[in-house]
Amino acid sequence: MKFNTKTIHAGQEPEETSGAVMPPIFQTSTYAQQAPNKHKGYDYARVGNPTRTALEKMIAGLEGADEAACFSSGVAAMDSLMKMLRPGDHVVTTNDLYGGSYRLFTKVFEPYGIDFTFVDMTDLGKVEEAITPNTKLMWIETPTNPLLRVVDIQALVDIAKPKNILTVVDNTFASPYLQRPLEFGADAVLHSATKYLAGHSDVIHGAVASSNEAIMENLRFQTKTSGAVPGPMDCYLTLRGIKTLSVRVQRSVDNAKQIAEFLEGHDEVESVLYPGLRSHPQHELAKKQMDDFGAMLSFTLKDDSIEAAVKFMQNTKVFTLAESLGGVESLISHPASMTHGSIPKDVREKAGLKDSLIRISVGIEDAEDLIADLDQSF
Ligand SMILES: *Cc1c(COP(=O)(O)O)cnc(C)c1O
Repeated sequence: MKFNTKTIHAGQEPEETSGAVMPPIFQTSTYAQQAPNKHKGYDYARVGNPTRTALEKMIAGLEGADEAACFSSGVAAMDSLMKMLRPGDHVVTTNDLYGGSYRLFTKVFEPYGIDFTFVDMTDLGKVEEAITPNTKLMWIETPTNPLLRVVDIQALVDIAKPKNILTVVDNTFASPYLQRPLEFGADAVLHSATKYLAGHSDVIHGAVASSNEAIMENLRFQTKTSGAVPGPMDCYLTLRGIKTLSVRVQRSVDNAKQIAEFLEGHDEVESVLYPGLRSHPQHELAKKQMDDFGAMLSFTLKDDSIEAAVKFMQNTKVFTLAESLGGVESLISHPASMTHGSIPKDVREKAGLKDSLIRISVGIEDAEDLIADLDQSF
């Protein structure tokens, strides 16, 4: 099956008792057993739920994985995945990381004895330098948030594999429609399904897809033991969102390209960060690694101040000032004071995150309206 067909059919079968084409929302906490431990595959809903199973099969199909596990949020999925590490283990990750991931690593896992090194992962030499004998995991995010750097998944896998270091890619920004990290040899893919997969800004959801038995065994164990599981309604909404993933993302990408060109030509814009622009430092890598360039872009103003950025964002009428991304509506945000507020200013600046940096998540409205809205906001 090719990708667009998979978004409709992967792992999906009409429901047995009624023939329902969409899986019902199995709103139940427990399941009748024929005899102790003799049941139809489900015993308690923390461990499993048929609506969740349908979604897990779908996400595994989209990423080309044997299995997937779903969680109550993207960070819950990360939290469960990271629990396969033990005190003393070391992780190499990017210095341009989603703010919530940075907080989880430094505020939860560091105090439990796991070490992290944050490096610019576009510099492979720096990644190699950061590896220690205790390095167990490489946490990759690409394109990065909010600087839209593109990290070479294949090159990092080639560094990690011979050293038995697991590679995990946070694929939230690209979605499997544009990028499938397992094809480059990554061990697992993580999604904040809250974003493109669900796609309608109406659900918080997370998922991991992998064919690595140790990773999946830990996730099944964490599902049962730590219990950060999604409810069936949220699984249903995410599955419903996925059915239109291809058309939504393609439309958003087409809009984003036009917006990037408009911004690049504007007097008051200092720089535009978008992998689809020829001026982007990893434009060629993005072409190779992704099927298209994504619908996230950031730009900085000639007046590089928090005040100028905030003023701009308060002028938009079609773009909504809000955190998050990947929904049908266009959103605008200010990472330095919003999503990345939990990263100290000196760390932010060292990573290249300027005060005036504005991030936009391009939705599926008409490009003309989006461009006109940005134009009148300057
Ligand atoms: C939003 C996001 C997360 C966290 O996901 P939640 O569903 O909000 O918990 C992780 N990684 C990236 C890149 C994100 O954008």
